[in-house]
Amino acid sequence: METIIIFFVLIFTVAFMLLCLCFFLWLSLSKKYKEKIEKKFYNKLIRVCEKELIYIEYYNNVYDLSKIKEISPSLKNKGNLACGRYIYYVKPEYDTPLNRINHKLPKIQLLKNNNVWTLAHELGHHFCIKKNDFTEKGADKYIKILARRHLDIFDRIILGIEIFIYSR
Ligand SMILES: [Zn+2]
Repeated sequence: METIIIFFVLIFTVAFMLLCLCFFLWLSLSKKYKEKIEKKFYNKLIRVCEKELIYIEYYNNVYDLSKIKEISPSLKNKGNLACGRYIYYVKPEYDTPLNRINHKLPKIQLLKNNNVWTLAHELGHHFCIKKNDFTEKGADKYIKILARRHLDIFDRIILGIEIFIYSR
């Protein structure tokens, strides 16, 4: 009787350890896979920028991007600083092809180590403003549309949580 109990405890322990191993293997694999899909999505969005004739400018840090020379105490919280920015002509009367070339507009400003969700948000502004939507929420919601347009269903499932969070 005792040997049977020991046998079952042993089997249970080994099975549990195997399950843990599989779980961590799956976690690390899916993280790597997620990064691969995010990279693919990023490259597709860069191509969209090229098609839409959007200039992209890169900055080393949030302070350069926000054009802040010194960090004031109120801005110590990085949450107050933008990680990306979309710039366009506000006044339609100045919006001529020549003015766009001279001022490199429209343009997206990004940090050098930006991620796909920032780029998608700024690109969201580009398409929303075409429809007279200047809101942050509109740009966020557009991330879902960009994902639907440029990722297949399987990739969208893998990035499902991120798409849900960033496009709320
Ligand atoms: Zn925004």
